[in-house]
Amino acid sequence: MTASLASRPVPVPAPTPGDPVEVVVLGGGYTAVWGHRALARRLRRHLRAGRVRITVVSASTTHAFHGWTGEVLAGLVSHDRTRTPLAELVPGARLVHGTARGVDLAARTVTVATGHGRRTLAFDHLLVGVGSVDATSLPGLVEHGHSVKGEHALRATDLHLHDVVARAADTTDEEERRRLLTVVVAGGGFAGVEMAAAVAARFRAAEADHPVLATTPARVVLAHAGPTLLPEVRPRFDRLADYAARQLVDLGVEVRPDTRLERVTRTGALLGDELVPAGTVLSTVGQVMVPLAGTESVVRDTRGRMVTDAWLRTSVAGVWAGGDAAAVPHVLHGRPCPPNALWAIKHGVRVGDNIARTILGRRVRRFRFPGLGQAASLGVGRGAVELYGVTLTGWVGWLARWGFFHWFMPSRRRAVATIGDWLRRWRHGPLLEPPTDLPTAVEDLRAPARPSVAA
Ligand SMILES: Cc1cc2nc3c(=O)[nH]c(=O)nc-3n(C[C@H](O)[C@H](O)[C@H](O)COP(=O)(O)OP(=O)(O)OC[C@H]3O[C@@H](n4cnc5c(N)ncnc54)[C@H](O)[C@@H]3O)c2cc1C
Repeated sequence: MTASLASRPVPVPAPTPGDPVEVVVLGGGYTAVWGHRALARRLRRHLRAGRVRITVVSASTTHAFHGWTGEVLAGLVSHDRTRTPLAELVPGARLVHGTARGVDLAARTVTVATGHGRRTLAFDHLLVGVGSVDATSLPGLVEHGHSVKGEHALRATDLHLHDVVARAADTTDEEERRRLLTVVVAGGGFAGVEMAAAVAARFRAAEADHPVLATTPARVVLAHAGPTLLPEVRPRFDRLADYAARQLVDLGVEVRPDTRLERVTRTGALLGDELVPAGTVLSTVGQVMVPLAGTESVVRDTRGRMVTDAWLRTSVAGVWAGGDAAAVPHVLHGRPCPPNALWAIKHGVRVGDNIARTILGRRVRRFRFPGLGQAASLGVGRGAVELYGVTLTGWVGWLARWGFFHWFMPSRRRAVATIGDWLRRWRHGPLLEPPTDLPTAVEDLRAPARPSVAA
């Protein structure tokens, strides 16, 4: 399918003479931010002269840096460091805060639901960078479970963990305390492994503040549907996956292979046919595509991603895609690039540049990035990294990941502030006090996230 796209030059309709060329970017994540940067760099003069206009449409007002999710849960990095206001990141663009609900490919318009009603935006070029969202089809997950990806999900999970620790410290009911201090994490990929390690470290740190917790040690169960953890790096990097598995055991995480999370209940998780009483069920399983009504004619793969050619063009003229929402052929083997942040950044850079080149009448360039590697942290000093085929573990791996992640944060200011967080935590230990500037009711954060995740 990808090959047939690559062989076909896609004519892009000419804008109406006199009007600016309209570029609409959907999303406020890695693809969108780096896509905008590339567009703005190449089209600087044309933007200033009003010959081109870039509009960024994002459901969220901030960019989320997911790389530090485990560190936020472990109390090592503040949640705020992972969120950068989009207005800072896309200077010069028209920023529309809203959710793209539909695209009219014939009229070349996007309909956006905003807080003030619906808006219709015309486009000559449309960049789809809406990422993916957590699957919510598992029974009970929306009502009783937690996740870490959605707009408010990480904050809600963080607050919920504060809450269960406080309740566990207060209760005199031993069984209830044991339930509250049990966390079930579903998913044996990078996200699940990192979250399980982070929660285990967090509970250990909480024992210092609540000595009663030491009498009932926390239990973290990592359920994975497959036979081994980190299937994405096996068999080539078995050493890395085995290292991660050993670190989890060392942290006291109970790893359950070949075990599916079937249902989340008010008081626990159904793992296979066993009901595990738990205070928290955290799912990192399954990402689904964001539906965009009207784009059904765009060629998609079996996962629902928009298939692009090597220039990041979809099957519809003037519609481009990158990041998790797209199946972009890898330069070496032609299969889709993995869905992670570095690829989304690199897609954004290439697609932004190619849109600009098309507007300027220049030749577009192929996406040639071959990849760099992958990285996970199982706690401070416990890195599991693959860099250009070389595996790095322990402190070396951890420091390599630490350096890379700061480098790839979208805002230098936030990267410096994050380093400040690390230094403070180094001296004073993890920050496990509940934030004071927030609604403390977890439901306040969970509730608004539901419609957008389900939409
Ligand atoms: C917990 C976790 C940890 C991760 N850790 C890592 C890691 O360590 N390293 C790594 O490389 N990758 C990591 N990833 C994966 C990485 O975050 C994603 O691959 C990356 O975010 C994809 O970028 P994107 O631009 O495609 O989408 P996103 O970054 O998800 O951005 C999508 C944007 O689109 C917006 N949006 C969605 N729907 C609409 C709509 N209809 N209209 C308007 N806007 C919309 C969203 O609000 C969001 O701003 C992690 C992911 C998670 C969940």
